[in-house]
Formats: sequence, C-alpha cells, structure tokens
Amino acid sequence: MINSMANTFSGGIKLNDGKELSKDAPITTILPGPEMVYPLLQHIGNPSVPVVREGDHVLMGQKIAEADGDLSAHLHASVSGKVLGIENRLTADGQAVPSIIIANDRRYLEIFYPENRKLRYTSRQTMLHAIREAGIVGLGGSGLPTYFKLLGANTRRIDYCIANLVECEPYLTSDYRRILETPEKIVNGLRIMLTMFPRARGILAVSDSNQEGYRALKECTRQDERIYVRRLHDKYPQGSERQLIYALTGRTLNAKMLPYEIGCIVNNTDTLAAINQAVITHEPLITKIITVSGDAVREPANFRVRIGMSYREVLEAAGGLKPGLRPEECVYLDGGPMMGHRIDPGLDIPVTKLSSGIIVLTRKSMQASDPSACMRCGRCVEVCPNNLVPMQLFKDTEKGNEHAFIRHNGLECCDCGTCSYICPARINLSSSIVQMKNQILHDPDLAGDYARRYVRS
Ligand code: SF4
Ligand code: SF4
Repeated sequence: MINSMANTFSGGIKLNDGKELSKDAPITTILPGPEMVYPLLQHIGNPSVPVVREGDHVLMGQKIAEADGDLSAHLHASVSGKVLGIENRLTADGQAVPSIIIANDRRYLEIFYPENRKLRYTSRQTMLHAIREAGIVGLGGSGLPTYFKLLGANTRRIDYCIANLVECEPYLTSDYRRILETPEKIVNGLRIMLTMFPRARGILAVSDSNQEGYRALKECTRQDERIYVRRLHDKYPQGSERQLIYALTGRTLNAKMLPYEIGCIVNNTDTLAAINQAVITHEPLITKIITVSGDAVREPANFRVRIGMSYREVLEAAGGLKPGLRPEECVYLDGGPMMGHRIDPGLDIPVTKLSSGIIVLTRKSMQASDPSACMRCGRCVEVCPNNLVPMQLFKDTEKGNEHAFIRHNGLECCDCGTCSYICPARINLSSSIVQMKNQILHDPDLAGDYARRYVRS
C-alpha cells in the first residue's frame, strides 16, 4: 500500500533554497570547445578500459571505453573528432584520473542508430542490455550502474518503481526544468521500469512547492493506471533515498541495503530520461542537464551540456561572474551547497555523468564565524534524518576512534550536511563524519556489509 499518511520523515530542515535564481531559465544547449576530457572513472566500480587509441577518429555516440566488471560502466564520445591520447587529468573531487582526450572537430558526426524500439515488443533482456550498453549509472550521484541495480532485483518482488523528482538541494533546478519541459521522457522511463517489474506500481514523487511540475506529470499520466503522482513535504533531505522511500511507502532501509531488498526500485529524473533514450532510441549517455547558479553568477541558467566539456566553458556560457567580482572572492561548488563539494582544482575539469550543477557563491554570503565549543543544545540530534547523534560521532572523529564511530552507527550517515547547517556553534560536524565514514568504507574488514555499495569489484 502507498503510504498516504507520512509524506515525509522525521528530522530534516526547511532551507532557503535559492531556486528562484534559475527556475525560470529554460534548458538551452551549449556546445563545447576544442578539447574534450573523458575520465575513465565516472561510476563506483573499476575504471573502464579504453577501446580507442591515440590517433583514432571517433564519432559522437561511439563507445570509447568498456566496463570492467558489473560495477563499472561503458563510456562514449560526446563529439566527433580525433583521440589525442590517454593521460591523467584532474576531476571535480581533486583526484587525478586516467582520461581519454579527444580533439573536438566541431562536426558532431554521429554513429548510426537503428530504428526506434517499440516498448511493447521489447523484452526485459533487451532493455537491460540497452541500459548497460548506454553506460547509464545512478545520475543522482550514486554512480551505481543502473544495469547492475536492475539485474539484482527479482521481478516478482518489486512493489514500487519510484521516480525521485524531489530535487531538495538548494539552487539546483535542472530537474524542475526537465519536468516542466519534457515530462513525457521521465514518464516513459518509468513506464519502461513498470514493464520490467510487472507487479509494481509507479510513483512520481515531487516536492510540495513544485505545483507546476505536479500538474505537468498528472496531465502526462492521465491514462496510466499504474502510475501515481505524489507530493512530499518541502523539507531537506526529502530526496535522499532512505527518506524518500519511507515517506512514500513506510518501508525502512539501512545503508547496508539496496532498495530492491525492500521491494523498491528508485531512479532519479536524469536516470529515467537516460533509460528512455537508451531503450527507445538506442542513444548512449553523452549529455547532462546542469544548473549554473549562485549569488556570484551573472546569468543563472540550466544547460544541456556534453559530458567531457569543461566547467570553465559552462560557467562562461552563464556569463561568468557578476561584474566587479574577482574569482578569489567566490567559492565554487560541484553540486549543491548541502551535499556538493568545493571545487579545489580550478575550473579546468570535465563535466562527468555525475555532475549536477556548478554553484558559485560569494565568500561574503558564506561567511561563517569560527566554531566554538558544543553547547549541548541537541539540535543536531533533532534534525538528523537517520536518527544519529552527530555530536557523539564528531567526538569519535576527533579521537580517531573508528570502532566507536561504527558502534554509534556512523556508517548510517547519508552525508546530508543537515547537522552542520543547524549547529549554532558552527561546528562542521558533517564534513568530519563523512570523512571518517569514507575512510572506513574503503576498508572492507572494518566496514563489513556496509562496503558492498562502495568496494571496487
Ligand atoms: S550525521 Fe550524517 S545523516 Fe545525520 S544530519 Fe549529519 S550529515 Fe546528515
Ligand atoms: S548542534 Fe552543535 S552545539 Fe548543539 S549539540 Fe550539536 S554539536 Fe553541540
């Protein structure tokens, strides 16, 4: 039964979301510059293996690297041009990753795509194959290959196929625009899921404030008896997988589990649109829709960009910084301000499958006072959506005590940042907690079952 009572979860916070800066900016396509960079690691598994060499000419949509194992994913050229080589390049998280470099010939010559498939004549096996071939991974940031997630799910045990359209991160509006402009692509992605899981109901979940999106989706699904459109409370982190599933179904998930173990399949907006494209039109994942916003950006925008182009080019397309602002007066974020990361290596880094937004804020707007001692107010405990005690976990991190951290359920943290946001003593709780969590997750002996979603195959 769909959980009609909750519509939300315990904890969480109301945020000033800054979405007004870019929500009315329609999605426009921008073209990349002369050099494209394709890191071989844009998913959680092993790096993909190049199938092109220096000097090769490639077409747009051509496979340039093969998945290495089930947790890895194929990679495709998003332009036509010449392979310049394979070398280490920095990515948004500051890591140097082996990358295929392609000189864009600006002709955008495509591979040949067969005739569109008709959903009713397409088998589950063909759909799975198409999703794998297209290189689709969890585009909300998980990087888990979608093929792997769907393959593991028992078709008779899935009760809900959920479309996560909540987009609760401040400033990001790419999902909002996609829902308004092309709702049928998202709904078609969900219809494909429902064909694969014939016992399931489909739920399109949007936030309460997204009235326009709700109406567009309702209109689009009038004939779909198995699809429901649900509005959820405007609260952060409502779009986090565990909080979303609980609000919609009343079922609880922990960080050791995948949603299919409790009868749910969850995909976000981008992933569903990519699934539709892969299954119906045979096209691989070579573009992303990303938001460029923040109080430092001249013309906040939503762009359809090619994977491989640089963040610098994308920011320039939005007019760059506001007049009079110098780069050193700004903070650059990959993703939203709650779960995104500061871009430290500079803007000459490539858009990847996992890019969702470039947010640039003035240092002035972010100025926080220095942290003071914990005053034991308990607010971090009240807001933690996973019922953790962040102040205790923070103490464990200060002592470097990994065993205590595990005992206090630190591995259940979903990286939402809510505790840091609320703390009146300005203690950056979440960054220390997330750092220790990731450290433990990279040690399978310590992490045990928790490592299954993170360890490379
Ligand atoms: S401890 Fe983790 S899950 Fe809890 S509020 Fe902090 S960041 Fe979010
Ligand atoms: S919110 Fe900050 S000050 Fe309050 S208990 Fe938590 S860590 Fe301490």
